[in-house]
Amino acid sequence: MIDLHRILVPTDFSKHSHNALNYAVAFADKFGAELYLLHVVQDLALFIPEAVSVAPPVAPAVEQMTAAVHEALQRIVRENDLGRFTVHCDVREGTPFYEIIQYAKESDIDLIIMGTHGHTGLVHVLLGSVTEKVVRKSPCPVLTIRDPEHEFVHP
Ligand code: ATP
Ligand code: MN
Repeated sequence: MIDLHRILVPTDFSKHSHNALNYAVAFADKFGAELYLLHVVQDLALFIPEAVSVAPPVAPAVEQMTAAVHEALQRIVRENDLGRFTVHCDVREGTPFYEIIQYAKESDIDLIIMGTHGHTGLVHVLLGSVTEKVVRKSPCPVLTIRDPEHEFVHP
């Protein structure tokens, strides 16, 4: 008997990851599972090069960014009435697919639910690059959710 205790929804705050969250809510309701919302702040070194040298002056900028993302995750919890679940909100820095996989291992996640696409959302691309890599390397099953308005365009 398959039992799902911990469901991870990696979010880039796009409409696609919001659709994925709707599925996660349905699964969490059925299985009584806990939800894990994770956003990975990408390539910090590109935006704040000084951050990689851990210079004290940029530490507040990093903290501010992390705090802003935390707030955005809390907003998702409020706006989707997730109060009835145990919801873990986390922010990581690094390469999104890698951090998502590490997080899934560390938190002993049973199922990852994510969008087939994200902010870039190119119609002709079958899967976004983050999803493709997570599907390849995930320690647990991955459910990918396609946006109904985002179907293939036939030539
Ligand atoms: P690409 O980024 O490859 O140009 P894309 O933005 O359309 O294309 P992905 O980035 O793979 O596609 O996004 C697919 C899903 O991956 C999103 O719906 C979201 O669930 C997850 N995701 C993407 N980026 C992040 C991130 N930085 N943190 C957490 N989850 C993410
Ligand atoms: Mn993306």
